[in-house]
Amino acid sequence: MTTQDQKEGQDQKEGISRRRLLSTAGAGMATIALASGVTLISRAQATPRVRGVGVPASSKIRWGFLVNTNSDPSDWDTCVAACKKENGWANTGHPNTDPQWIRKVSLKDKRTGAATSLPMMCQHCEFPPCVDVCPTGASMRRADGIVLVDRHRCIGCRYCMMACPYGARSFVHHDLHNQRPSMPRGKGTVESCTLCVHRIDTGKNPACVDALQAKGSKAIIFGDLNDPNSEISREVARYLTTRIRDDLALEPGVLYRGL
Ligand code: SF4
Ligand code: SF4
Repeated sequence: MTTQDQKEGQDQKEGISRRRLLSTAGAGMATIALASGVTLISRAQATPRVRGVGVPASSKIRWGFLVNTNSDPSDWDTCVAACKKENGWANTGHPNTDPQWIRKVSLKDKRTGAATSLPMMCQHCEFPPCVDVCPTGASMRRADGIVLVDRHRCIGCRYCMMACPYGARSFVHHDLHNQRPSMPRGKGTVESCTLCVHRIDTGKNPACVDALQAKGSKAIIFGDLNDPNSEISREVARYLTTRIRDDLALEPGVLYRGL
């Protein structure tokens, strides 16, 4: 059984079925900020802003993802591979404990048999319970919406993993090899998708988004949800979108289209 299969099996045990995910879709749709009357302007998305050295992250920005679940399911494999390559995590032969910053989740509606898949990563919640329960302040939310773990302050208690309703965090059980200079990791600490903060702060897209664009896919749109003229905001205004488990009112920065 592959790591992906293990994770999917785990998801099924945890009851993350399509029906459960969508159980509150009606309420979710009502609370998602869909800008009515927005005039669609045909222009390219502004290049993500470069954050200068020593300049604090700004709450004027809310970085986020819009995931189109109608995309080719192979796109999510592309994202997983790109994330592994960029951030240095990999399958090490311990499928039950290997970290996974992003995983492909398969869903099936038991009533209709309709199947789909989507990528699941840290949802970069506006009100993240992983931050609330952290006893050392290692788990933190930046002003621009990116939720991170400070590995130097993390004591490996894993409270955040228990608090996260998305199963988005992993604990590093094993020795680490081939670490990326841009993304140092630590055995005995917790980690999750960083939204590729090291790339965003230098004006680049997250690695998974760049990998998709390299194959001509726009399955994930990255951008500033606070900017009404950004591509992501215009797409959110144009299409019906939902946040997974919107009933929890965590206000994730990751929105899904097509569910
Ligand atoms: S998805 Fe989980 S780890 Fe990410 S911010 Fe939300 S609660 Fe925290
Ligand atoms: S944004 Fe970066 S860290 Fe997050 S899933 Fe994509 S590649 Fe991985």
